[in-house]
Amino acid sequence: MQANRKISEYDLVTQNWGKIKDEKYSVVVLPWGAVEPHNYHLPYFTDCYLSHAVACDSADYANEHLGVKAMVLPPVVYGAQNPGQWNKAFCIHPRFETQKAILEDIVHSLYRQGFRNLLIVNGHGGNTFRPMIRDLAFTYPDFRILSMEWWTVLPHSDYFEAEVDEHGGELETSAMMHYYPELIDLSTAGDGIVKPFNIAAVENKKAWTPRHWDAITDDTGLGNPKKASAEKGKQFVEDVIPIIAEVIAELGKE
Ligand SMILES: [Zn+2]
Repeated sequence: MQANRKISEYDLVTQNWGKIKDEKYSVVVLPWGAVEPHNYHLPYFTDCYLSHAVACDSADYANEHLGVKAMVLPPVVYGAQNPGQWNKAFCIHPRFETQKAILEDIVHSLYRQGFRNLLIVNGHGGNTFRPMIRDLAFTYPDFRILSMEWWTVLPHSDYFEAEVDEHGGELETSAMMHYYPELIDLSTAGDGIVKPFNIAAVENKKAWTPRHWDAITDDTGLGNPKKASAEKGKQFVEDVIPIIAEVIAELGKE
């Protein structure tokens, strides 16, 4: 998970019991991704890599600049999928009940250990945590769960050129080129052209149903990644990190 990145002492993937046993952590951060195709050029693990990397950098920032210690759990790897995507090789679709059971077990374990603050850093657009968090707030009224999507906290158009950039496009590709350049060969990417969905009400966002991926894209991407760059990715994530760190700090200070 660390590839070209610096080791964070708030990344549980790399830490050990000897280092953490005498420390106090006021917030737990849970990255949540997906295992799915992202155009031709990004790894299946993209949503996990990015949510985890941004979460670790945010925890570092929260400690260094805001005086709050947060531990980042390993990412939950399975994200909810649409038809036309889940039938592609090795794309895994967990049912809502499975995701909810995973989150409940994480909360139950953390609660027993005395933790009371959890921030979910979501890396995948198909994941929906609100109904789960409502149920958990009912069961654990003194355990706070916040969720946020790392890629929506800043206006896309301030950093990127592509008008459509939903999946495997300029933003995700740029962020991956920043964090994991050795995994990306941009010359292999498709154009990520998005074809209109055949239900107009869904297309104009008056109604919702999961779009059949094969009907809207040929390369599994939604949005053209060709103008992506490591520099754009760096600028974007470096501006996102203090925002997520502030959320960690606010959650941890009470
Ligand atoms: Zn993604």
